Amino acid sequence: MDIATVKEYLKSYDGPQCTIMEVCGTHTATISQNGIPDMLSDKIRLISGPGCPVCVTVAAYIDRLLELALTQNTTVVTFGDMIRVRGTKLSLSDASAMGASVKTVYSPFEIIELAKADTGRNFVFAAVGFETTAPVYALIIERLINDNIKNVKLLTAIKTMPEAIRTVFAKNGKITGFLAPGHVSIITGYELFLDLAKKLQVPFVVSGFSGEELLLSVYALTKLKGGQALNMYTSVVTTEGNERAKEKLLKYFKITDAPWRGMGIIKNSGMVLKEEYGEFDAGSQNLISDSMYNSACKCADVISGMLSPCECPLFGGVCTPENPQGACMVSAKGACFHHYVNKRL
Ligand code: SF4
Repeated sequence: MDIATVKEYLKSYDGPQCTIMEVCGTHTATISQNGIPDMLSDKIRLISGPGCPVCVTVAAYIDRLLELALTQNTTVVTFGDMIRVRGTKLSLSDASAMGASVKTVYSPFEIIELAKADTGRNFVFAAVGFETTAPVYALIIERLINDNIKNVKLLTAIKTMPEAIRTVFAKNGKITGFLAPGHVSIITGYELFLDLAKKLQVPFVVSGFSGEELLLSVYALTKLKGGQALNMYTSVVTTEGNERAKEKLLKYFKITDAPWRGMGIIKNSGMVLKEEYGEFDAGSQNLISDSMYNSACKCADVISGMLSPCECPLFGGVCTPENPQGACMVSAKGACFHHYVNKRL
């Protein structure tokens, strides 16, 4: 079917109500930037899910980063998104103003060069992310071992998707289909989402990232039945995924229960370094407190699709990208940020 016909179908759709969750933060960004919600009939609603790694990270993790950044002779190295997210009280940016040592990088591998250039200083990487980023952290551990680098550790908050999707599906109660996380699918493979579709009896589509690809995927989700799944991102997503990346990951990390913002501890939904690599861990375990900087922030409900960002009483008034009250307004993958900047209301 050509895209013009698909657009016409989606705009005039009058079938059963569809509530489709886009799990991936990058999908959220593309959907908002392309104005896709305005191209759909009122009977098709897109809601954002738990696919922004910074947004699902609990306050205790940020507080631990702050503690490390304020430790003498220690530098916290992080992606830019993380520095403006507040923990219980402060963000890494606030801590920098108090003398904390924080460095932002584009690639986690930059920490290797930083550590080699200053062997008298300790460096800690804020290793947040999903199945997509986690193999990179495994490669860093391998480099540290091979190059005998002793002054780098990771503070990990690595999450895995399947159990979080199950939790969101059970909690939300209205979801009729999922746009599966595209980048995660490259590593895990399509079969993981086919399996989930069967278990949850709800359809999944693995989608690419262009506006057209997303429209075609939404179209597919209005047609598929519970238990069915489709891989529409076959240019990079295979049935079994990236076996080498999965192998590397499981060499250094093991599955564990993990805390998710607003969802509590979800069994088998995260990864931590195995005990034999514990010397590279900067204290990642038992960081579970989820108390928010602003108790009126509804990030927890936004992440699970219970509330649209604009239904949060702070949205656009107290909370803006310039003055974010929660992680969802900070991150370039956050639902509140994209609803605000793209006026997705
Ligand atoms: Fe939290 Fe701001 Fe989003 Fe409200 S608009 S849920 S305060 S990040």
